Amino acid sequence: MIEDNVKQILAKLPPGVTLVAAAKTRTPDEILRAIAAGITVIGENYIQEAREAFAAIGKKAAWHFIGRLQKNKVKRAVEIFDMIETVDSMRLAERINRSCAALGRTMPVLIEINSGREPQKAGVLPEEAEDLLREMSTLEHISVRGLMTMGPRFGDPEEARPYFKRTKDLFDQLGKEKLANAEMRVLSMGMSNTYNTAIEEGANMVRIGTRIFGEREKK
Ligand SMILES: *Cc1c(COP(=O)(O)O)cnc(C)c1O
Repeated sequence: MIEDNVKQILAKLPPGVTLVAAAKTRTPDEILRAIAAGITVIGENYIQEAREAFAAIGKKAAWHFIGRLQKNKVKRAVEIFDMIETVDSMRLAERINRSCAALGRTMPVLIEINSGREPQKAGVLPEEAEDLLREMSTLEHISVRGLMTMGPRFGDPEEARPYFKRTKDLFDQLGKEKLANAEMRVLSMGMSNTYNTAIEEGANMVRIGTRIFGEREKK
């Protein structure tokens, strides 16, 4: 099941698009099955869950943090993750920078954009992204690699298209800036029900959970 799902998605993914398996609530055994079928990047939302999965699986895949990172968990996050996709404030960036400096490493990050301008959602507003990018480029232990967005949830993926388009426009605009420690290479957008639309609009990283692992149990 998991194996077939991964193979089917990978077979149809255009070249240059990276598939992140969004693994929240999944067991290490389920994650290992996805890796065996060709998954190379695991996305995790919760630090404790990620630590348990990482302890069981280790470096068989790359690990991306895709959840809301609480400031008191930054230190533990930088020990595990290869990329943090959800940086949306200078305060958080500074924390990551400090923890990485202590470990003598640099963290690749994406800036999360609140493309739907939803008050309850994470992410920086599109018009504030440029200032944040400039500020973040002064941090030596952070390397900005691109943008990530969730966008509002819709039943119909067509309704998500304008938010992906807007984020791609921003990605192109910010890509013209010549800044230290910053470049626009990765555009992470699209989930199980929207990833094809996101790819049409320029995503080169998609984060898929349900389509790989099945429905999540409601808590
Ligand atoms: C859960 C999650 C996904 C995947 O969602 P599905 O609808 O299960 O594919 C993608 N991105 C983030 C940030 C998530 O939390």
